[in-house]
Amino acid sequence: MKAEVIQEGMIGLEIHVYLVTKEKLFCKCIASREKGLKANTNICPICTGLPGAKPMLPNKVAVEKAVQVGLMLGCKINNHLIWQRKHYDWPDLPKGYQNTLSGSFAVPVGEKGKFHGITISSMHLEEDPASWDPETGCVDYNRSGLPLVEIITAPDFSTAEEVIDWLKKLLHALAYLKAADTNAGIKVDVNVSVPGISERVEIKNISSLESIGNAIDYEIERQRKDKCKEKETRRYDSTSGKTVKMRSKEDAEDYRFLSDPDLQDIIIDQKMISLMKESLPEAPEIKLEKLVKKYKIDEENASILAKHIDIVEFFERVADKIDAKFALPWVTVELLRFLNYHSTTLDKVNIDPEHFIALIMLVRDGKITPLKGKEILNQFYPKSFVPNAGEGKISDVKELEKVARDVVAKNAKAAADYKAGENKSFDFLMGEIMKATQKRADFKIARNVLEKVLKN
Ligand SMILES: [Zn+2]
Repeated sequence: MKAEVIQEGMIGLEIHVYLVTKEKLFCKCIASREKGLKANTNICPICTGLPGAKPMLPNKVAVEKAVQVGLMLGCKINNHLIWQRKHYDWPDLPKGYQNTLSGSFAVPVGEKGKFHGITISSMHLEEDPASWDPETGCVDYNRSGLPLVEIITAPDFSTAEEVIDWLKKLLHALAYLKAADTNAGIKVDVNVSVPGISERVEIKNISSLESIGNAIDYEIERQRKDKCKEKETRRYDSTSGKTVKMRSKEDAEDYRFLSDPDLQDIIIDQKMISLMKESLPEAPEIKLEKLVKKYKIDEENASILAKHIDIVEFFERVADKIDAKFALPWVTVELLRFLNYHSTTLDKVNIDPEHFIALIMLVRDGKITPLKGKEILNQFYPKSFVPNAGEGKISDVKELEKVARDVVAKNAKAAADYKAGENKSFDFLMGEIMKATQKRADFKIARNVLEKVLKN
């Protein structure tokens, strides 16, 4: 497909990612992006920009998480950061400016990074404005003041596919970091130009990977046709699949950046940066490689495990103590089924790897049946599980014979049917034995015992 080279553009991205924090950036309001939250629930004079309200010291957790994101992107972290006011007039911004660590005179949190081959020009922290509905005129301040990180790449991409592929890797790595709320989605501004043909066009605020890909393809094609000579800002209309002109591009000075006298500078010492660097989780591709090479897991199962950092780290701890192949289905099938069934995640349930190991060891050593093991798992099994009397596997022939006779006596018709050649009745009687023993009967032994009982 080399003939398509001519269609390639120069594409750069500005990605907005929401940070996970309990509170907003400059006030104590709850930072919630919960969908369907009643408008203007988490608000105060600071985040609604009431006259005279002054910001509190910036949320320390937000600053730390922004630094972690910068480190993950391979950026150089700057030690002295100065808050700026970025001015613009819009109904979502009552104080008339947004507080940001970006801008003409600002030092970004991180710069000169590289992530999967793409240069990160800079990344910084800023507050989200409110949300304004132009149809109703209503402004909802729940979002106002939430911390977000903006990541700016060099125009290193040439095609929509490259962009999508890279964004998926970015989202995966951010989810590993747990610093970014990837469930809250991302907002991406895409800059597109076709070298030698058109000026740079910025497409604002696209929020799905599919729309990003479609917008880039449409824009490259349009610029090649129209040979646009003017910088402009457009938006993507997903219904028509087209980009629409919003305005001629503002230059940076239109925002009248100025350092904010209400906010102190942030000083990040080198020691803190080193500590954070050490505590970064391994990247998804490193985890995948480890699963395949160290634990000898096939690629399909490795990618299931590597999807979530909690699951892969849990598996690593388990597989360091017990054969990885034996442990694999207990994690990829049983544990994931259990979490899906309860619509929860590993960090929200009380399952300690040590206890999980103890449980599957009991199954491995034949002390309990796999069925019993699953049942215990389903009950959020107790912290230190040892099978006590009444919970272990029943392998005693005499005990099982008693159960089998009892079952046969209670189900005389099924027993007669089996003797008349109805094999299905045997499975039914086995089911009754498992029921009567609360799934504790050793399946093989119980089968033999039942056969014997039925012959008599
Ligand atoms: Zn507030």
